[in-house]
Amino acid sequence: MEITEYMELNGHEQLSIFTDPKVGLKAFIAIHDTTLGPALGGLRFWKHETEEDSLMDVLRLSRGMTYKSAAAGLNLGGGKALISSSSTHKTESMLRSFGKFVESFGGRYITTEDVGVTTDDIEVISQETSYVTGLPISMGGSGDPSEMTALGIYQGMKACALEVWGEPSLKNSTIAMQGFGKVASCLAKHLLQDNTKIIVTDINKSALQRAQEMGLDFIENPDQIYDVECDVFSPCALGGVINSFTVPKLNCKIVAGSANNQLLDDNHALMLQKRNILYAPDYIINAGGVINISVEMEQDYDSNTAVEKVSRIYDTICSVIETSNIQGITTAAAADVIAENRIKEMKNSGNLL
Ligand code: NAD
Repeated sequence: MEITEYMELNGHEQLSIFTDPKVGLKAFIAIHDTTLGPALGGLRFWKHETEEDSLMDVLRLSRGMTYKSAAAGLNLGGGKALISSSSTHKTESMLRSFGKFVESFGGRYITTEDVGVTTDDIEVISQETSYVTGLPISMGGSGDPSEMTALGIYQGMKACALEVWGEPSLKNSTIAMQGFGKVASCLAKHLLQDNTKIIVTDINKSALQRAQEMGLDFIENPDQIYDVECDVFSPCALGGVINSFTVPKLNCKIVAGSANNQLLDDNHALMLQKRNILYAPDYIINAGGVINISVEMEQDYDSNTAVEKVSRIYDTICSVIETSNIQGITTAAAADVIAENRIKEMKNSGNLL
């Protein structure tokens, strides 16, 4: 399928490519939908195998951001940026050149951090554009969003527990975590207060060491995490991990984690449902970071306001489960219904933001 045809079919507004050979920059910005507000989405620093892979990834991720913000009730649209580079080294001139690219959108796209990009990088980008958020705390920003993302996951897990066990509590349950990075470590702190047993895996030995220092169990072979007998399987590393190969192996009642695009495709939500495993849709449960950023954008950042708003992910997951039960659809489809209805309502009302 041609890229423009794919964009039309999936409701994408814009895809822009920017090159600046002097500083080694090749960047892409995708704007999916701005019905609810300016397109917000992180900058990813990554090298894909082909240029087509880069384009498809940035498009897919921008659409995910539209759905994430819409379902979270935010007045933001969906966008995403990608710097394609085979080097892991980011220079100041490269980041500033990217900042000029962002500025050229005049606020239709607002950038922030994503995989491979830090709050320090965002500070550099902000020298060239004001359309940037997720600034370091020292600059009055909200800093690293991982803690808020973890809080949202924890609240979402409790909402799932209410559906599965009749009580919004994870007390004494067993959680298997795939990936023990920034979000998972913060999530573990919440879960430990509930006396949960946590079993983690990670491809990085230092992450396993951190887990051990926190008194957690760990599995050295990352492939074995799917077989762990547990109450909640929590994907906190990569996308596409819920697929035809892994669903039959899962030995849990709930799938709830931070990774984006956990389902390899929509069909896998149905596979989970048929196995009686409750899936917390990724873009609903991991919206804590973007909710936190929306607080930074609205006013002087206040962490108490952010905690209160992120905690509402509990209610959003309850609504998703309710919609799924009433309409007899998967929770993934129910999440899409909630997000799409909000955008449709805004379009129909004519009150475009
Ligand atoms: P991170 O890089 O700090 O942690 C990811 C961890 O996963 C790393 O320790 C890495 O070694 C491990 N990992 C990678 N491949 C693995 C594999 N095959 N098996 C086991 N472990 C593996 O990232 P993070 O910020 O904690 O984010 C985790 C996930 O959540 C990512 O998919 C990210 O896109 C998503 N997410 C993060 C945020 C946030 O606020 N940080 C918000 C929304 C979504």
